[in-house]
Amino acid sequence: MPLVSLTINGFKSFPDKIKINFNPGMTGIVGPNGSGKSNVTEAIRWVMGESSARSLRGDSMQDVIFGGSELRAPLNRAEVTLLFDNQSKQLKTDATSVEVTRRVFRNGDSDFQINKKDVRLKDIHQLFMDSGLSRDSFSIISQGRVEQIFNSRPENRRSIIEEAAGVLHFKQQKQSAQTQ
Ligand code: ATP
Ligand code: MG
Repeated sequence: MPLVSLTINGFKSFPDKIKINFNPGMTGIVGPNGSGKSNVTEAIRWVMGESSARSLRGDSMQDVIFGGSELRAPLNRAEVTLLFDNQSKQLKTDATSVEVTRRVFRNGDSDFQINKKDVRLKDIHQLFMDSGLSRDSFSIISQGRVEQIFNSRPENRRSIIEEAAGVLHFKQQKQSAQTQ
């Protein structure tokens, strides 16, 4: 399921709209310290439903909004869009092209869209569940995460493996069937 592009607008150190196109194969991001490499990976995790502000190195979700610099005033909104080619149907939808957008405003309002339709956070999680791409999967391994995985308790490590294997979806269905 190739990543096609990432569009960042007002997120962290990116006040202007920028678009990164991913070509087939590997993409590397290089740049000096503090130039925004980690912010790019955080933008990807955020649009895919990351709900912990702390894991995005902030205190609240509004901290992802561009906070101003010497030359630029702070912005009121952050918006990130991730476009996937879903011809392989790895994402849980019939659409062959899937565009996911997340926005947050200074006043705390926020929204998600899948192919320009408003959805809930839950729908975002469901879309990525078992795709091998969900926010808890191995698809993005940040600094320190490797140690965290190795040092985690066996139950937690098991859920990471289950996610990668794609069985979490069935487990959740079983759980909801049992509680009905
Ligand atoms: P390193 O090589 O040290 O890991 P990096 O390229 O990963 O650096 P980032 O951590 O992505 O750099 O970017 C850090 C920069 O982003 C800092 O200059 C910080 O001030 C800026 N930044 C973070 N959040 C915001 C925000 N909300 N508004 C404006 N700038 C921000
Ligand atoms: Mg970094």
